[in-house]
Amino acid sequence: MPQSAYLKRVYEQVTQRDPDQKEFQQAVLEVLEGLDLMMSRHPEYEETGLIERFVEPERVITFRVPWVDDKGVVRVNRGYRVQFNSAIGPYKGGLRFHPTVNLSILKFLGFEQILKNSLTGLPIGGGKGGADFDPKGKSEGEVMRFCQSFMTELNRHIGQFVDVPAGDIGVGGREIGYLFGQYKLIRDSYDAAVLTGKGLDFGGSLVRTEATGYGLCYLTNEMLNCMKKDSFAGKSVIISGSGNVAIFATEKATQLGAKVIALSDSNGYIHDPKGINLDVVKEIKLKRRGRIKEYASEVPGSAYTEGFQGIWNIPCDIAMPCATQNEIDKAIAEKIVKNGAIAVAEGANMPSRPEAIEVFQKAGILFAPAKAANAGGVATSALEMSQNSMRYSWTFEEVDAKLKDIMINIFHNAYDAAEEYGVPGDLVAGANIAGFRKVASAMLSQGIV
Ligand code: NDP
Repeated sequence: MPQSAYLKRVYEQVTQRDPDQKEFQQAVLEVLEGLDLMMSRHPEYEETGLIERFVEPERVITFRVPWVDDKGVVRVNRGYRVQFNSAIGPYKGGLRFHPTVNLSILKFLGFEQILKNSLTGLPIGGGKGGADFDPKGKSEGEVMRFCQSFMTELNRHIGQFVDVPAGDIGVGGREIGYLFGQYKLIRDSYDAAVLTGKGLDFGGSLVRTEATGYGLCYLTNEMLNCMKKDSFAGKSVIISGSGNVAIFATEKATQLGAKVIALSDSNGYIHDPKGINLDVVKEIKLKRRGRIKEYASEVPGSAYTEGFQGIWNIPCDIAMPCATQNEIDKAIAEKIVKNGAIAVAEGANMPSRPEAIEVFQKAGILFAPAKAANAGGVATSALEMSQNSMRYSWTFEEVDAKLKDIMINIFHNAYDAAEEYGVPGDLVAGANIAGFRKVASAMLSQGIV
């Protein structure tokens, strides 16, 4: 709980106003604890009601998404867009299609996105959206019809200067393609910069697919280098998940000399002590849309175990949770520490519960929080928007070099802010402070709006 009476009051208001929004409350509390250190230097935050405004989304849209399945049955899902903060640029953040999607999860993600986007140094505000639709087990036609119905409503709320959605869990290149096609049809206008994560032949950017996983490794390598004079070389790594972030984190960590020994999905995990063969994983997950357990029957010497949390029983040097929120609880964190890990870097959003972060920090192991560590995806989305505006494309090497620079800068901004506020090495506080001060300054300049 923050020490500042003002921040305590704001947090109480949040919990009273939306008592059932547990994930959102968790995200707000973590950020307010980081901002506590700033309050004595910034009385203007309280005088202008800045934090009350900061924790309340500028606009929340919920809408009906009706579609017809392959049997001709009408289905209805609920769609959302949380337009959280536009102080430094148009709302920007992904769309998540998953049965667990609700307003609490999207508000937590949108809130985190404000600070993450600010940390990239690029002019993008924060938002998030999605639907409680499960793309798993749906046919191509069903996914397409769902995406078209979703965009039939969403189109009126977005635009390159208003709100620019992208992908997240359950929304990859295929879904972005269908969403873009419907937007173009309804608006009769080729506004490429209205969505990011597009296919390369219609305005997508090279490196966007790889960006979150690659960026996570660039930042982690810089953290190891700066805080421990070390690197990925020769390290054993465990990565949870086997989706977009996990796959490309595996690729970059391996290129940097590490050995990734385990991956998971929501059913279980694979362990391959020789090092994961990523070609096999890509074939299963990206081409066949299969399950991670298929790996064990194709790669001799590897094993599959049911239950996704068991992955953390395996000892490793570096742990990178890249699946979903709240995966790492206190007991798992204690196991990771006991097994001798030197660093944890978050690829997923809020994968560690607050008690788990406390365990890592008390043990003195390096900890890179999501809003810094996984910002590479949205940063490259902003580079995609720049290329769309210029009607020009950069090469893979050009985008990759920009991404690497951005991630290294994010690390140093968070690291320096932690030093400046008397908590050296605390990248949780550092990332919150470094991200927040730019947003706060923009909000102060723009008056009470
Ligand atoms: P994908 O949909 O590509 O992959 C998600 C992976 O996580 C899958 O392996 C999935 O397994 C697993 N997973 C999902 N839910 C659960 C659960 N409840 N328990 C265990 N495993 C689960 O998503 P992404 O890789 O894009 O996203 C992963 C995380 O990274 C999310 O937190 C997302 O918000 C975050 N992120 C993504 C960015 C991006 O650019 N894609 C950018 C920044 C953050 P299964 O197939 O069994 O569901």
